[in-house]
Amino acid sequence: MVWMTLSGCRASTSTPKPRFVRRIVSEGFDIGVVGSGYVGLATGTCLAHLGHRVTCIDKDVRLVSRLGEGHIPFYEPGLEKLMAKNADRLHFTTELTSVTREADVVFIAVDTPQGEDGAADLSNVAAVARSIGQALSEANRERPLVVVNKSTVPVGSGAYISMLIQDGLEEAGNGEEADFLVVSNPEFLREGSAVYDSLFPDRVVVGADSREAVDVMRILYKPIIEQSFPTELDPKPKVAVPFVTTDLVSAEMIKYAANAFLATKISFINEVSNVCELAGADVADVAYGIGLDERIGSRFLSAGLGWGGSCFPKDVAALRAVAREYEHETPLLDATVAVNDRQRKRVILKLQQELHTLKGKRIALLRLSFKPKTDDLRGAPSLEIARDLDRRGGRIVCYDPVAGGRKAMGSATDFLKVVFDPYEALREAHAAVIVTEWEEFRELDWERVASLMQKPPLLVDGRNALNPERVRAAGIRYRGFGRGEGQSAFDSGEARVANLSYRNLERD
Ligand code: NAD
Repeated sequence: MVWMTLSGCRASTSTPKPRFVRRIVSEGFDIGVVGSGYVGLATGTCLAHLGHRVTCIDKDVRLVSRLGEGHIPFYEPGLEKLMAKNADRLHFTTELTSVTREADVVFIAVDTPQGEDGAADLSNVAAVARSIGQALSEANRERPLVVVNKSTVPVGSGAYISMLIQDGLEEAGNGEEADFLVVSNPEFLREGSAVYDSLFPDRVVVGADSREAVDVMRILYKPIIEQSFPTELDPKPKVAVPFVTTDLVSAEMIKYAANAFLATKISFINEVSNVCELAGADVADVAYGIGLDERIGSRFLSAGLGWGGSCFPKDVAALRAVAREYEHETPLLDATVAVNDRQRKRVILKLQQELHTLKGKRIALLRLSFKPKTDDLRGAPSLEIARDLDRRGGRIVCYDPVAGGRKAMGSATDFLKVVFDPYEALREAHAAVIVTEWEEFRELDWERVASLMQKPPLLVDGRNALNPERVRAAGIRYRGFGRGEGQSAFDSGEARVANLSYRNLERD
């Protein structure tokens, strides 16, 4: 195993120079984070909170200017507050070159959207890697720059990034002295709890072909690994965090495999829920019963209208694309996607079963974002469902005070109306669909809902988030996913159902 340098390959067993180690341990790191979206900004802010000096870089001039004023243009609980708290160690710029020259470590956290063939589009990562190479060409560095890729990228991208940094160096024509080390450090944070997940991760994965790079990353993340940073949470949720070191490609694969597994787990319970519906079983009970088995675990077992978002769809597609490169078939992943596509259609089917035709029917979609506590609409099932309902002649009103104003809605506003009050969305509606399981829906006044809706009112609970009995008691027809029509013989009432709903609300 080697690490890349223009002046040749150094042995992988090199360690950081003692003087450098003394400085980074006592004074912290100088860090650049390229890409200041959900991942880059959360990463940069949390690293500043650990005591490092961080500059977040983005090509979006307006975003950088807003961040410089202390505002984040998307919804992420707790992030703005943490930014303000660490403002003296956190800076924002569009200028990558000077930051790269001065930094000990540069993170790449740019978007890697799904390309036309399903494979990840690496053009943003490639542009950054090349720019890093160009910036390095004139840097007079005493130590190698550690380039850490946090963007989700296909297996082999570490080598690709190394190649592009070298290309950048060569293009600039003065690269003989520049050293760099490439690391893969996949990100597992969840939107809606990005700060918590960054400070209290389940694990830190670092893939590198160089011991020096791993050592630098271990020092960088020491406060997280040892959970020694200041926090208001008492007791801390974690005592220590596993630091997992692998080669580059295995780290890249860990990210894809993790997301593909979680997506498969949800599709699995959805498959079971459809059989439950036919056989009269309640999938919430079944999920609870199997989830208590520690080998299975209770999370990601919420049946409903399926997974979406900015990561699962593109990462599963990218993993399938990687396999295709090797002419390898992925029947399990193919089925994961097929089951998920079918779940969306089951929402339409449930509405049709009750309303017969959807033409001229007013349908309220409750929340738009792909999951609670975020305004992210990338890959959101809501928009797909709304489009389908529109094609079938329905009138769609969406309630979402957080995501409803986002520019990302784009042309969706042509066929759906957005309101900021749930009761306004439900007024005169023939049916309502819970698309995203925000906590607030458990607190709705269902009697008031029933009085506002067309008679007989219908609720499709796309996330099995509610207590069906509570909704039915208000005179509303309730249709969940895989919950059958009956009540479990073992149902001990409100508390247990609330408990099940709570687990559903925990879904990621
Ligand atoms: P994002 O779209 O929110 O942010 C990406 C940012 O990168 C944007 O602000 C964009 O302007 C900037 N950018 C793109 N090209 C650039 C360039 N050449 N120079 C400077 N800035 C550039 O994306 P995100 O959600 O933060 O995701 C980033 C990566 O992390 C993706 O690969 C994603 O798959 C992965 N990831 C995302 C999440 C998540 O929950 N969002 C979780 C884990 C991993």
